[in-house]
Amino acid sequence: MVEEKKLIKGLSSKDAEKRQKSFGLNELSEKKKISMFKIFLSQFNDFMVWVLIGATIISGIMGEKADAITILIIIIINAILGFVQEYKTEKSLDALKSLAAPTCKVYRDGNITVINAKYLTVGDIVILEAGDRIPADGEILECTSLMVDESLLTGESVGISKSLRENENSLYMGTTVLKGKGLLQITAIGMNTKMGEIANLLQDIEDEKSPLKERLDSLGKILVILCIVICALVTVVGILRGNELTEMFLLGVSLAVAAIPEGLPAIVTVALALGVSRMLKKNSLVRKLPAVETLGCISVICSDKTGTLTQNKITVKEVYMNGKVYNLDKDILPQNSLMMKSFILCNDCNYDFNERNIDKALYGDPTETALIKMYFKDINLLKAFTSNTRRVYDIPFDSNRKMMSVIVRENGKESCYVKGAPEKLLERSSYIYENGRIKPLTYQKKQQIIASVNSMSERALRCLAAAYKDESLERSEELEKNLIFIGFVGSIDPPRPEVKDAVLKCKLAGIRPIMITGDHKNTAFAIAKDLNICNTLEQVLTGEEIEVLSDKELSKMVTKIRVFARVSPNHKLRIVKAFRKNGHIVSMTGDGVNDAPAIKEADIGISMGISGTDVTKEASSMILMDDNFRTIVDAIEEGRVIYDNIRKFIRYLLSCNLGEVLTMFLASLFYLPNPLSPIQILFVNLATDGLPAIALGMDPPDSDIMRQRPREKSEGIFARGLTEKILVRGSLIGILTLISFLVGMNYGWSLETCRTLSLATLVMSQLIHVFECRSERHSIFEIKLFTNPFLVGAVAISITMLVAILYVPALSAIFHTTALNFGQWLLVLFFSGIIAIINSIYLYIKVKR
Ligand code: ATP
Repeated sequence: MVEEKKLIKGLSSKDAEKRQKSFGLNELSEKKKISMFKIFLSQFNDFMVWVLIGATIISGIMGEKADAITILIIIIINAILGFVQEYKTEKSLDALKSLAAPTCKVYRDGNITVINAKYLTVGDIVILEAGDRIPADGEILECTSLMVDESLLTGESVGISKSLRENENSLYMGTTVLKGKGLLQITAIGMNTKMGEIANLLQDIEDEKSPLKERLDSLGKILVILCIVICALVTVVGILRGNELTEMFLLGVSLAVAAIPEGLPAIVTVALALGVSRMLKKNSLVRKLPAVETLGCISVICSDKTGTLTQNKITVKEVYMNGKVYNLDKDILPQNSLMMKSFILCNDCNYDFNERNIDKALYGDPTETALIKMYFKDINLLKAFTSNTRRVYDIPFDSNRKMMSVIVRENGKESCYVKGAPEKLLERSSYIYENGRIKPLTYQKKQQIIASVNSMSERALRCLAAAYKDESLERSEELEKNLIFIGFVGSIDPPRPEVKDAVLKCKLAGIRPIMITGDHKNTAFAIAKDLNICNTLEQVLTGEEIEVLSDKELSKMVTKIRVFARVSPNHKLRIVKAFRKNGHIVSMTGDGVNDAPAIKEADIGISMGISGTDVTKEASSMILMDDNFRTIVDAIEEGRVIYDNIRKFIRYLLSCNLGEVLTMFLASLFYLPNPLSPIQILFVNLATDGLPAIALGMDPPDSDIMRQRPREKSEGIFARGLTEKILVRGSLIGILTLISFLVGMNYGWSLETCRTLSLATLVMSQLIHVFECRSERHSIFEIKLFTNPFLVGAVAISITMLVAILYVPALSAIFHTTALNFGQWLLVLFFSGIIAIINSIYLYIKVKR
């Protein structure tokens, strides 16, 4: 095997580049992208906006030309804001798509490199392993036990065996490797593949609609109808009272445009997309937008142990052989070439013999590299050791079987070497090799070995045994019978230092961390206890124990369990189902091809960015770029933050819009003059709805966000009193704005001044309320103002706009405003701030209590 690895060179980078130029990229042609111009035009794709434009043009022709032009300018500025939002969302989604792009392992310039699959070209040699998605069409050069799933092409989901035989040697793009491994020479790429012919079948990963957005879309429709009815009422009452027809019509339409929260679904997408890019900075890649919402509901995190809770930096510490335990830090290990051969030759590590540093020269699973490093510090010695050996057959490692076997030819003689979980090898061994002699493996001997395994696992060591045989070397699973047991090693894999804190954080947030591992019960327990995931052995359940439980029994039991040990991937599926049956929202991690069903079943399936296979990645809704448990907890926190922020700006937008509509509605109800002109209404909409709402979407989390219980998945966005908050606050904004108008009238100020007063009160009420919306549990006094600089900036811009239309003569002429004096400003600040202050004092006292 090693000899062959050296012979394969693959294409040179230069040659590959040339071929890419002539064959193109390995891509299926995509649907045409929407152009920037179309995105801009789509901003006007709204019935009410067209009515407003129509009404404006009519009123422009009939008189107020300056008004008409200003309204059109405001409409255009609004469209630009909408365009920027949508364009940003598109861009960040595109960036995510390219990050999620599939990769593949190829030989280039004689080295194995991982490349983006789109740069694969005809003639490339690709290395395939279980779980890989086949990146292009090709012919098999070499393979062992290769089985692929071609259901994407044939519709039949049965594994198909592949070999070098003529009818079995073709592999197709988009199909997946279920078992075994091989080398594939690429013969067709991109649209020339079989997949290219049916390119549209490929699923698009990002286009799923978020359920929240869908719900908001339908809420939006109801609000539109409600707004139109109220605005029509205001218009009709105004006309009946003898106001000018065009003026009233324009007012009604302006009010409708201002009050309809048309931006809501767009801001939700922006908030989700921004959250997704923030999550990416913290190493979690969300593949499906709706997952962001679900993240905040997670109540159980099922996590793999190796590499996720632990560092996956494995070092062999102890060796059991010849009936004794050797500690590698103290003892000198006796020569045992059979154990050495089992661990080195029954090993899938790749080597780079040009690299002198052994740490850099080995590529592969840390469990396997640790075994090589236990014997070799010098790569040249490893080269010499393996140079006369050639692997002629293998049964690959599989986490269900927990072992692997090879037949190796050395100097014309074949031997079988096996490594795997000690109890699996003991089950299959009839003899034991001790002190140079082969003896029958007696019951007592087995018990002695099991006791040693237990003792090492209790000290958190991960055990791996070796066995061999020289006779009856069948090329089938029969190979793994009547083995000669050699011994086993115990390795440490230290927990990740950051995990302890993350576990504590989970517990405070009402989330249950669960360890799921293929490892030994004792090893799992020792590590889980160290990480505070569990306290007693009663909280540990093994795969064997799961086997004898019915689904019903398992779901009854599962809530008491914190660690699942020696489980196989198929148990994971039952575990997810059991937790879900108890009403939990479950996230499940996985890396191997067999984990895909459990990942699909979980509410949030999480795959590993480093060690995960393509199949698990595609089944998952989130990829952990660093395989780290803490990243899951960070992502959940971010999910909660995003959901909270969406609630924040929904609260803000709806109560503000309610305030606007109510001001006008109450005025018409009580036969008062209109407190705002159409152009002023549109100004309020421009100054308060856009930037402050977006800035709220970027709000940092409440300090106690991870001290709250997870949200119920069925909970609506308006739950926990949000509707009441919106109704009460919105009404108060409307009533106080109207009162400010009345106060002005009472003083006998001109209609222009009174309108300016209500305009300023309405704008300022909203700009103060936006800070209240930052927290549902804390008062304005407790929220640190500058933790959201975007919001401070957005509010500053809005205030500047207000001041400008009041004090710049040219603008005040357009907006029909007057310059308010000091006393009038005091009135404005009183009416806009009083409720916020009362409310904050109430909240402050409540929290203090
Ligand atoms: P986790 O599920 O948390 O990742 P794990 O890595 O121990 O834990 P598996 O990879 O399924 O789980 O391994 C299960 C057992 O199989 C290990 O405890 C070990 O005894 C054995 N094993 C692991 N890797 C290999 C390998 N490369 N070759 C042979 N046996 C292995």
